[in-house]
Amino acid sequence: MNVRPARPLTPLRIANSFRGHVSIPGFASPRRLVLHIGFVILTGRPLTYTLSSPTPVKREEGKFFGVVPLMSTTLGERASLGRTETVESTEAQPRRGRNDREVIVVGGSAAGLFTAASVARGGLRVRVLESKPQFEPAPRTLIVTDHFRHQMGAAARESIINEIRRFELFTDGRSAQVALTKPDLIVERSRLIPALAREAEQAGARLSFDTRFLGIGPNARGLRLEVESGGRREELHAGSVVGADGAASRVARASGWPPIETVPLVQAIVRLPKDCPSDTTRVWFVPDDTPYFYWLIPESPERGAVGVIGEHGSDTKRCFESFLEKKHLKPLEWQGARIPVYRGWVPVRRQIGNGEVYLVGDAAAQVKVSTVGGIVTGFRGALGVSQALLRNGRTHEFAALRRELRTHWLIRRALHNFEQKDYSQLVDLLDASTRQSLGEINRDESTRLLWNVVRRQPRLVLLGLRGLLMGKAERG
Ligand SMILES: Cc1cc2nc3c(=O)[nH]c(=O)nc-3n(C[C@H](O)[C@H](O)[C@H](O)COP(=O)(O)OP(=O)(O)OC[C@H]3O[C@@H](n4cnc5c(N)ncnc54)[C@H](O)[C@@H]3O)c2cc1C
Repeated sequence: MNVRPARPLTPLRIANSFRGHVSIPGFASPRRLVLHIGFVILTGRPLTYTLSSPTPVKREEGKFFGVVPLMSTTLGERASLGRTETVESTEAQPRRGRNDREVIVVGGSAAGLFTAASVARGGLRVRVLESKPQFEPAPRTLIVTDHFRHQMGAAARESIINEIRRFELFTDGRSAQVALTKPDLIVERSRLIPALAREAEQAGARLSFDTRFLGIGPNARGLRLEVESGGRREELHAGSVVGADGAASRVARASGWPPIETVPLVQAIVRLPKDCPSDTTRVWFVPDDTPYFYWLIPESPERGAVGVIGEHGSDTKRCFESFLEKKHLKPLEWQGARIPVYRGWVPVRRQIGNGEVYLVGDAAAQVKVSTVGGIVTGFRGALGVSQALLRNGRTHEFAALRRELRTHWLIRRALHNFEQKDYSQLVDLLDASTRQSLGEINRDESTRLLWNVVRRQPRLVLLGLRGLLMGKAERG
């Protein structure tokens, strides 16, 4: 790999590095060209577009117990890369006189339990409805950044089973290593969820298992919920409902949110290959198989999770099986589910009569679409919702999370169109200085990371732009 020492960059040097590669009419000044390209990279739009504000699209409110007819935006339209839909948002509207009413959280997994604990600690009455008969979540090996440590209480931190200090990236016979300044964490979900449940209960939240949400509608006091509990239908009442019921959220559908696009994610637990250190995650870019990637995450010196994200279930399965065979990896266990694809901010609040409905976690597609990680961002969404509930709608968390998710979406849009030669070039361009940025700043601070990487290796801007433009060309 070509490793060059870092040289300090000025805007002029960045612009000079484009000379001979690009010629864009109207950008006589290199400074203006750099500013423009930077803006396009961060926003996905030409600089001038920001001056006009988008016209909000109004959507129908939910009707009682209705699975409301799905909204005008189709799944296909939402799936088109490069489009953000704008739905009228009431996220910051103040509300009064709600503190005496119960908050019902639907879904007792990561985002729901985190929300329940935060809201209960703030002094509101909280009840969690979980459709599963008891808290015995299926095992799932998760990798998260160091942000997780700051988000979690002491009990949940016990779900950390390993630390990752290095990433190895592979593509077409090339490789690059990135040493992490702060280690990534390997978390076992079957330990995390019970720990979060304990924290929620200790904060005063009531947990109801075997209780499935069916529908929602307004009543004089707020919201009326239809649930099935232990095989019997019941009616519950709440001032606010939080939908934390995952990618196929029934709360969202019943309250009038359109469905979100999902992709399959499959993991197999394997014996860790002898040549793979237990503190190193491996990532393979194989664009012929998937626009995403394969990974191997060690959970201990003996075992690791190898996985892939694909676009279509059957192709993903076929490619994954052949990948496992090529790497001589034998699956011991399987893990998998469909994961939301973030295509634009999902407004997290809707008013139904006198009540309010929020979405958090996968239900609101709060997933970093560049890597398809939803734990840290789901907790950030949950924190935003709990702050909104406790502070009469006031929170900065949504704006920050929205910026974060948007940057990941931009990165995904560029990577999604990469061919093998682009990945080869990407790995070749990761010189010592760029890898230092990648090691120092983690993927939960994506805007800072992107700027730093681009500042140190401006040729990556061209590569990214190429990816973005190829996507645009394909869409016609
Ligand atoms: C194999 C795999 C590996 C992953 N790896 C990573 C990773 O390494 N890093 C990372 O950050 N993310 C990872 N993810 C994504 C991450 O797991 C999810 O983003 C996260 O778990 C979403 O949490 P959630 O609480 O929003 O939703 P979910 O975990 O989907 O929880 C939804 C809950 O709602 C309940 N529910 C559903 N419907 C109802 C109903 N009608 N009534 C009552 N309850 C209901 C369900 O039983 C469930 O308990 C991975 C996902 C998979 C599948």
